Amino acid sequence: MTEARAVGNFETAGKPYAAFSALALERIEVGGSALEIAFAPSEQVLPRIAIIDWITHSARATAAYYGQFPVKDVQILVMPVAGAGVRGGTSYGYGGAAIKVSVGSSSAERHFARDWVMTHEMVHLALPGMRSPQHWLEEGIATYVEPIARAQAGQLSAAQVWVSMVDGLPNGLPQAGDGGLDHTPTWGRTYWGGALFCLLADIEIRQRTANKRGLQDALRAINRAGGNIEKSWPISRVLRIGDEATGVPVLQETYKRMKAAPADVELDKLWAQLGVERSGGTVTFNEDAPLAAIRRAITEKRG
Ligand SMILES: [Zn+2]
Repeated sequence: MTEARAVGNFETAGKPYAAFSALALERIEVGGSALEIAFAPSEQVLPRIAIIDWITHSARATAAYYGQFPVKDVQILVMPVAGAGVRGGTSYGYGGAAIKVSVGSSSAERHFARDWVMTHEMVHLALPGMRSPQHWLEEGIATYVEPIARAQAGQLSAAQVWVSMVDGLPNGLPQAGDGGLDHTPTWGRTYWGGALFCLLADIEIRQRTANKRGLQDALRAINRAGGNIEKSWPISRVLRIGDEATGVPVLQETYKRMKAAPADVELDKLWAQLGVERSGGTVTFNEDAPLAAIRRAITEKRG
C-alpha cells in the first residue's frame, strides 16, 4: 500500500484540511484524547458506524500500547475514493496532528473490521518527525508496532503477529548493493528494514534486562517526554531517551550497527531461537526455544 507522509515542510500552513471545519464532525474520546472525525462529501453512502468503530478500536490499541493516546487532539479525515476497502493513509504533524485515510466509496462494513491502516497511522503520531535519511525509523516503528498493539488489545492473535513478521521481514533484508538503513530508501528497507531494526532491538533489550524491559518501554518514554508527530527531533535525541528508559544503550548501538552498513540477519535462525515455525497458513510455537519467553512477552498485554 502506498503511503506518503509530510512533516515540517508541508506545503500549506495550518492543518492540512482547509475544509475540515466546514464538515460535520464526529467526536470521540479515547484515553482523555479527542479524536475529531470528518467525512468528506461522497455521492455514495459510506458505512459511517463501521468506520467510526474502526477508528475507535485502532485508537484503543494504540493507547494501550503507549499507555496513553499519543497526542491530545487529532483530526481524522475520511476521504472517499474509487473502489472498496481502505486504500491508503497519511499522517501529518505540521499545524497539529492529523490523519487522512482514503476509503473506497463502495466499501462495506466488513472492510473495516480487521483493517490495519488506521492503527499504523496512529502509531506514527507517537514519534517526532525524523529527517529524511531516517524515514525508515518512522515506518519501521509503525510497521512493527501496529500488529503488536492490536494483539495486546486482543484484536489479533499472537500467531497473526508472527505470521506477518515471518512473511514481511525478508523484504527488509539488504539486497546486493544496498548500504545501511540511512542510505537505502527503498520500500523494503524503509518499512521492513525499519521493522527489523525494531525486532532486533526489542529482543536485545529483553535479553539484557532479563526480559523486564522492551522496545515498548523505550517508545512509551519517547512519547511521554513530549515526542510526537507535531515535533521534529534528531534521531540521537529519540534513541537516547529510549535507551534511558530501558537502562541499556541498545537503540543507539543497533542504530550504529545498521545505519551505514547493510547488516545482514539470518532470519531462519532467529525464528528458530524465538520458537516460531511457519506451518501452512499460520505459525506454530515451540515453547522450548531459547527465546520463547521473549517472544511471548512481546505480544503480552501490558498495564
Ligand atoms: Zn506509515
